[in-house]
Amino acid sequence: MAHNTSTQQIDLTAFEEKVYFIAAEVLDILKELSRENQKQINSKAIAERMFHKESVKSALLNSNNNGSNNTSPANKEDKEKELAFLKDLADNMLDKFSEIVPSNMVENLRNLKEIFKDHSVFKNSSDWLDSPIGVIKKYIDSLAARNVELEEFLKQTMEHLAAIEAPLTNELSSQQQKFKEDRDFENNISEYMNMMQQDCKNSTNFDSLKTAFLSKIENINKGIEKKREQDMQRLKETEKTLEEMGKRMNEIKNEADEIRKKSEEMEVQAYHDTLTGLHNRKAYDEKMEEILAHVQRYNIPASLMICDIDFFKKINDNHGHKVGDLALKKLADLLKERLRKNDFIARYGGEEFVIILPHTDLKGAVLAGEGLRAYIDQSVFSYKNQKIPLTISAGISFFKKKDNISTVFERADSALYLAKKTGRNRVKTEDDVVNEGTVLAQTT
Ligand code: GH3
Ligand code: MG
Ligand code: MG
Repeated sequence: MAHNTSTQQIDLTAFEEKVYFIAAEVLDILKELSRENQKQINSKAIAERMFHKESVKSALLNSNNNGSNNTSPANKEDKEKELAFLKDLADNMLDKFSEIVPSNMVENLRNLKEIFKDHSVFKNSSDWLDSPIGVIKKYIDSLAARNVELEEFLKQTMEHLAAIEAPLTNELSSQQQKFKEDRDFENNISEYMNMMQQDCKNSTNFDSLKTAFLSKIENINKGIEKKREQDMQRLKETEKTLEEMGKRMNEIKNEADEIRKKSEEMEVQAYHDTLTGLHNRKAYDEKMEEILAHVQRYNIPASLMICDIDFFKKINDNHGHKVGDLALKKLADLLKERLRKNDFIARYGGEEFVIILPHTDLKGAVLAGEGLRAYIDQSVFSYKNQKIPLTISAGISFFKKKDNISTVFERADSALYLAKKTGRNRVKTEDDVVNEGTVLAQTT
């Protein structure tokens, strides 16, 4: 060791021995503090302890009492020897420090050695007493700086963890905080963070602190991983719930569609005849009120036609009610085929049909009625290859302002009656009733 070589070359004076003694004392104090796991290893702590030591006190007092005259080197050669000795002493102390400081601090100590090499610390002989202590101070300061670094590191770690924790906490609160696992996780993190804070306070060196930290960070990571798994599980459950909710919503939508469809069907049933699919009497009544209102308010021309199947009873009698029903359906189809879309067709009852012809005067209604009559007359209705005659008679009236639904119907019905009376398969109007009816009355 360099120390041994140097000390052999130099005669240790009483003062030098004291210096060495003080340095050794300081080292011991440092070791003590280290062993005791003191929270703070800094120059203040060392100084406090050092000045409480009687041996140190007396050594310092002696050195002060002795003054610089006794201790100052006599000549330049001696001074160089002393410098060499102190340098060696510092080296030796640094080596000793290396035994107790964390491995990653050794690099710092090597840097300190470099500082000693240029002798700058020992420029003045008056620095002698301070120099070995100064070395220790430098170490302690660097350790304290290291502590600051550690604190900074710890602070950053805490901030980092808090940064991880914050969104998690937010997420938790935004999601379902009621879940026990969330609270467990938060408590876990907080607990580890507290433990890390304690570690920071209690640790005396970086290595032990680092080890303590790493194990806790690992545990926190495990906690986060566990939490992530729980969240994934919850996410799956949420997705499942959403899926079920989606299904349920579809079911509700389908149910609503079904209800809508049903109500539409009911609406259709309420206003339509089940056998022919045409409007029924109820629909006819409402439509008549509507048309009458239009006629009265806007003077819109409209006609009413009542069609009645000729000798329908015969169809029933000859072929049965089933064929009678088919005849009714056939007629309904023919009416729909021949009449305009705007014409309102309804089954009034039995084999009687009513047709409201909006925007149609009596002349136009006669044309429509005649066309319809001819169309039905020319159509072929057959059952089991047997041709069954199917004709209608029709009576037409024209809406007048003073009309109500009964009066306009009655005039059309009278015209129908006239059509029947005059041979069937024909169309008669209310005017015909007025003209021919008189003749009929006269002839009968
Ligand atoms: P006209 O030429 O004078 O009108 O003679 P018609 O036989 O057609 O008249 P009538 O009033 O004597 O007979 C109508 C018949 O229509 C009586 C009834 O049994 C039948 N009928 C009424 N509604 C239905 C029905 O929904 N289906 C069937 N198959 N027959 C019906
Ligand atoms: Mg009839
Ligand atoms: Mg009839």
